[in-house]
Amino acid sequence: KEMAADLLRIEQLEVDFEGFKAIRGLDFSLQSGELRFLIGPNGAGKTTLLDVLCGKVKPSKGKVRFKDIDLSKHQEHQIAQLGVGRKFQAPSIFITLTVQENLLLSMRQKRGLLSSLVAKTTPEQRDKMKYYLHMIGLEHKAKDKAGSLSHGEKQWLEIGMLLIQEPELLLLDEPAAGMTDSETEKTGELLHKISDQQTIVVVEHDMEFVRQFAKTVTVMHEGTVLREGTMQDIQNDDKVAEVYLGR
Ligand code: ADP
Repeated sequence: KEMAADLLRIEQLEVDFEGFKAIRGLDFSLQSGELRFLIGPNGAGKTTLLDVLCGKVKPSKGKVRFKDIDLSKHQEHQIAQLGVGRKFQAPSIFITLTVQENLLLSMRQKRGLLSSLVAKTTPEQRDKMKYYLHMIGLEHKAKDKAGSLSHGEKQWLEIGMLLIQEPELLLLDEPAAGMTDSETEKTGELLHKISDQQTIVVVEHDMEFVRQFAKTVTVMHEGTVLREGTMQDIQNDDKVAEVYLGR
């Protein structure tokens, strides 16, 4: 890959919850096209970092630049419009609609609620819907009600609903949580497939999943970055072992 400008650049970030610093002096950057795993013990600040990136939590200090935009100056809905998509752990699909209706609705939602209710589907939109349906591996369930999907399939549908809005940065919180082994495996493969076109940050607690699918990892500890590198570097790092074992 050729050298690209950072898609995301965070400098000396601080997040203060009534006197408690959940993030302290954090520097973090990402280049376009990366698939970065964010790991670290409980309370390290991983979720808070995602919350800052999607505008749910405001920094008390520091810079958060996405392309050339200062994200700290924008509200959550604006940040979504600017191209940051966030998937939370609990699925937010419409269970009484079909899989393809969920995708279409999400695609139209990007242009505002009114257009999502009244618009007709254009051939281009249908093509796009089919493209993402294929990507998440749910073509054979296109006309099934979302409520009838398995837990894993619901998660993939939700990822598809984010992808169809074509964010530049995708934030995922434990995408494989609660999945069966085969669903977990498919999720890992899906992340790699997506990362051909999209920059992704994944917060993950399941170390088996991380070992299997992560190439580059950022380890957080006590609100800051402890280590960053390839999975192999991280696995052989004494300091990382120490914070995980709590020695
Ligand atoms: P992680 O995702 O790495 O487990 P979090 O980002 O959830 O860590 O939390 C980091 C720290 O900030 C924890 O000590 C947590 O208790 C605290 N924290 C998170 N959210 C809040 C909040 N809204 N108010 C007060 N403390 C919070």
